[in-house]
Amino acid sequence: MQVYDAPLRDMRFVLDELHQDDGFSNIPALAEFTPDLTHAVLDEAAKFAREVILPINREGDEEGCVLENGVVRTPKGFKEAYVTYVEGGWQGLAASPQWGGQGLPEAVHMLVEEMLCAANVSFSLYPGLTHGATTCIDGHASDALKQAYLPKMVSGEWAGTMCLTEPHCGTDLGLLRTKAEPQADGSYKLTGNKIFISAGEHDLTTNIIHLVLARLPDAPKGSRGISLFLVPKFLPKEDGSLGPRNGVQCTAIEHKMGIKASATCQMSFDEATGWLVGEPHQGLAAMFTMMNTERVGVGIQGLGIGEAAYQSAVWYAKDRLQGRALSGAKRPDLAADPIIVHPDVRRMLMTMRAYNEGCRALGAWVSRALDAEHHSEEPEVRERAADFTALMTPVVKALFTDLGTESANLAVQCYGGHGYIRDSGVEQYARDARITMIYEGTNGVQALDLVGRKMPANMGRALRSFFHPVSSFIAENGGEGPLQPMIKGLEKAFGALQLASAHIAQAGLADPEEAGAAASDYLRLLGLVAMGYCFAKAAKIVMGRLAAGAGGDAGFYDAKLKTAQFFFARILPQAGGLLMAIKAGKASLMALDEAAF
Ligand SMILES: Cc1cc2nc3c(=O)[nH]c(=O)nc-3n(C[C@H](O)[C@H](O)[C@H](O)COP(=O)(O)OP(=O)(O)OC[C@H]3O[C@@H](n4cnc5c(N)ncnc54)[C@H](O)[C@@H]3O)c2cc1C
Repeated sequence: MQVYDAPLRDMRFVLDELHQDDGFSNIPALAEFTPDLTHAVLDEAAKFAREVILPINREGDEEGCVLENGVVRTPKGFKEAYVTYVEGGWQGLAASPQWGGQGLPEAVHMLVEEMLCAANVSFSLYPGLTHGATTCIDGHASDALKQAYLPKMVSGEWAGTMCLTEPHCGTDLGLLRTKAEPQADGSYKLTGNKIFISAGEHDLTTNIIHLVLARLPDAPKGSRGISLFLVPKFLPKEDGSLGPRNGVQCTAIEHKMGIKASATCQMSFDEATGWLVGEPHQGLAAMFTMMNTERVGVGIQGLGIGEAAYQSAVWYAKDRLQGRALSGAKRPDLAADPIIVHPDVRRMLMTMRAYNEGCRALGAWVSRALDAEHHSEEPEVRERAADFTALMTPVVKALFTDLGTESANLAVQCYGGHGYIRDSGVEQYARDARITMIYEGTNGVQALDLVGRKMPANMGRALRSFFHPVSSFIAENGGEGPLQPMIKGLEKAFGALQLASAHIAQAGLADPEEAGAAASDYLRLLGLVAMGYCFAKAAKIVMGRLAAGAGGDAGFYDAKLKTAQFFFARILPQAGGLLMAIKAGKASLMALDEAAF
């Protein structure tokens, strides 16, 4: 059964208690967003997730999207849910007030996103892409384009997409062929075919605004010759009302493994009118504004699905009666004990729980840094925050989706054979989660971004923005006391990360394939250390609160501490194995002759 209630207490913990000392606080522009206000927003979002989009998650998966006469019909209930979403003002939650948004901190927005993704990831994709597109337009488009498009996109009246992928061109965008011909009036005519375009066509909004990568006639070859264009489905008139249909159509929708209620479209551009966004040939850099927003957003999809899968597994583990506890019957009144008594079932539940809490805590740290990067008045804080978010963007995308997919699979395992049967609802999580490791740049490509770009940038400055708080925390909290097992564990894993970083810097300089061979293991290692740091900080806070008498929160704090202890005992020790794999280098990967495969 699909069970989901937003983990509001943990969300308030990561928002208000965990990261207060990270140097990203005290931003005057965000001072009006008091805990009272942000908690009210989270409560309302939890209600929307539970009451409006969770109930249409299973049905949406069964029904899927349908293409009829060039129009995509979303499953029953999606249109009504979208209207409720727009009326609630959710689309503009984190958007600039200049365009009608509410300007809430990213730290709050990310938690709301997690709820939407947990309740119905297919639904979340439609507004998620619009949010990414508005960020890109706001950052790079002309004032005229901003005025014409942003208010309607920020309100949710119009939706957005990102159109990068072509049949022969996925990861390697330098291969793309869609053409853009300049017109006398300053517009362009775009011609080409895009595939796999999420929300390329649907019935939720009156207009859809495509952000399209294409080549100008004089474009240099490769990724340096790519420009970005805004191409609306309907061309707006001067007064903002809808004008004629543009030359862009959905020619087919993909039949796929999961996220079936999200329309994945093949799009044909036939002399479609568009306008340049940003500078000619600088399209990829402009598109990266959207891609970075989406990458963090996709990481949050992984976390959301992981949380929903966990809650559904807990529900089943308490309900399903099989066998007896190894230590003797726990429920002799029943025919058998609930499976939650078995250590192996506990292993699965605790793993999911630790992944979710660790990712939520790390995600909150990154989103606070995003807020500081955008709003801090101090240039050095903005720079440090930008370094940190650049470093962590591929980590959030790849680690959270790897772990979310693992959690979804563990949930299926908790259900046994029933998990494999559609009626249980949990196999949908495994199918839905699987795409998150692939789109927005595969997780392998995220790892290459981390070791190839983010690590060496500015002589390792981004890496230092992360290493510094971790090493300071370890140094400040050494000595005696109950926190020490965690400090020791963190120190050991951090030592492994430092050795791995030095190894990659050295070996990768001599041979780039060495860095490529180490990349995925390195991303996992860095992500685990970051989660370990968050758990150790959380444990320190929690121990203090419990010692002071936590009242009604004692249960929450006690569970947090036990989850942190599990993470340090059973998950963080993987750091040692990852270091060994990294140091083993490329030899065993590349030894087998291609012909022997
Ligand atoms: C459901 C769905 C929705 C999508 N939504 C959108 C969308 O809205 N907009 C859009 O533009 N695209 C979208 N995509 C496309 C998606 O982003 C791409 O599928 C993805 O980036 C990978 O490209 P590809 O499928 O061509 O794989 P390829 O690039 O062919 O990669 C195949 C494999 O090779 C690896 N690989 C490739 N190059 C390298 C390299 N240099 N080094 C190491 N490994 C490498 C990859 O990691 C992968 O494992 C969507 C895809 C799907 C399935």
